Amino acid sequence: MGRVITAQQVHGTDVVAVDDALSATVTDGNPTCVPNADGLVTNRPGTALMALSADCPLVLVYDPAGGALGLAHAGWRGTLAGIAERLVACLTSNYGSAAEQMVATICPSAGPCCYEVGAEVVDMAAERWPEAERFLVRCDGRILLDLWSANAAQLQMAGLSPERIETPGLCSICDHRFHSYRRTGATTGHSGLMAALTP
Ligand SMILES: [Zn+2]
Repeated sequence: MGRVITAQQVHGTDVVAVDDALSATVTDGNPTCVPNADGLVTNRPGTALMALSADCPLVLVYDPAGGALGLAHAGWRGTLAGIAERLVACLTSNYGSAAEQMVATICPSAGPCCYEVGAEVVDMAAERWPEAERFLVRCDGRILLDLWSANAAQLQMAGLSPERIETPGLCSICDHRFHSYRRTGATTGHSGLMAALTP
C-alpha cells in the first residue's frame, strides 16, 4: 500500500518537504499528519499528499519536468500570507523545479460569488497587497473576496504562466456537491484532494 501524508492545516504558511525520514514514520494504511504545516511537497513516487477542505482553496502544483508535486491549504489567512508563493519556492529549493515548467490548479472552494468577508479581512488584504481591490468584489453593500484570483495571481508572481494555472471555478458554498463550512457550519464534512506521483 502507498503512503498518505497530510498536513495539520493550521492556517499558517509552513510548507514541509516529505523526505525518506518522514515517510519512514508512516504506518501502512494510516495517513501521517505533519504538525503545524499547511503545505507539503514531494518527489517520491507512490507518496500521496492529501489535504481537506470545507471552503478553503487547495492549491496543487506539479512539475512534470522535474517530477515533483506540491499541495497547500490556502484559506484566507494562508492566502493573505502568501502560501501559494511559498509552495512554488519550496518546490524550487528542494527539487530544483523551474516555475515556468509547473502547472497548477486551484480546487473547488469558496468562490467570489459567495465568499463574503468583513472589514477586518478587507483591511488586512489592503495592507498585504497594493492591488487588493482586484481581489475584492463589492456588491449590494457586501464585500466578497476572490480567493481564486488571489491565489492565481500569487502563482503568476512566483513565475507560472497564466495558461498553466487552471481554476475550475466551482464554488463550494453554492455548489452543493462540495462540503462547505459557510453553508453547513461546524458540523460540515470535508472534501479531500489526494495527489501522488506514479512510480
Ligand atoms: Zn458561490
